[in-house]
Amino acid sequence: MHCKKALIPLLLAVSAWGASFSGAEALEYTRKAVAFGQRPAGSAANRQLQAYIEVQLKQLRCQVTFDAFTATTPTGAVSMRNIIARFPGSGGRVVVLSGHFDSKPIPGVNFLGANDSGSSTGFLLEMARVINSTTHSNDIVLVFFDGEEAFGEWSDTNGVYGSRHLAKKWSEDGTLARIKALINVDMIGDKDLDILYDQNSTPSLRKLVWQTADDMGYGKYFLRDGFPIEDDHMPFVALGVNALDLIDFDYGPRNSLWHTATDTLDKLSAHSLEVVGNVLVAVLRKLES
Ligand SMILES: [Zn+2]
Repeated sequence: MHCKKALIPLLLAVSAWGASFSGAEALEYTRKAVAFGQRPAGSAANRQLQAYIEVQLKQLRCQVTFDAFTATTPTGAVSMRNIIARFPGSGGRVVVLSGHFDSKPIPGVNFLGANDSGSSTGFLLEMARVINSTTHSNDIVLVFFDGEEAFGEWSDTNGVYGSRHLAKKWSEDGTLARIKALINVDMIGDKDLDILYDQNSTPSLRKLVWQTADDMGYGKYFLRDGFPIEDDHMPFVALGVNALDLIDFDYGPRNSLWHTATDTLDKLSAHSLEVVGNVLVAVLRKLES
């Protein structure tokens, strides 16, 4: 009896964040995303993957909207579309988790991008399932960015098309001012997980995530050094948003698997996805206060 009584508050606390993040499920979603093949922005496979993501999200208690636009790229005009899943809270503040689903067009190479961008796609789909089972006061918004990859050589105007478009839109409609934190994930499925200490990210948010990882015994996966990285968080950083990029930019020896035909599912692990998932679920909980 006493034991039972003592357990009630604990059980309530746990059930507020019901499902736990499953790396195996995230890897399975990744496998499904990669099965669409090469999926650069504007391609038929990209649109088919969008439809798949949409079907998954519409089974959940979230509002799904789209941010469609035409990008001017070195290869011409390309139709792109970000997918936004909003799990409403009542507190008026917003926490964003994001990642990209397009893969880099590399002429002559069958680039499947299991890690880049299969892992971010699968990660966000599993995170959607977890958040769906929780109660929270922040609006939790998952953003699937299109057009992260450059068409040819990366530059200030070639790459992060989707995040540049959404940052501008959210700056104009007032959403940006309500964002408490934005955390972007990229290439987080590598079996040999080591997440870069990105120097472009907001130091206080980076500290919160690294401290959380340390407290959970995951410190060895989070590097203590790094360099400034350009990714989908940057258009938000530039507009003053509290933003962080979690990227493992050491994919194979000297990053040799990155943007090659060797970026395949056998290089990934469920455990790596689960480490990042567990840390970010704990961070979402901390950001509630
Ligand atoms: Zn890439």
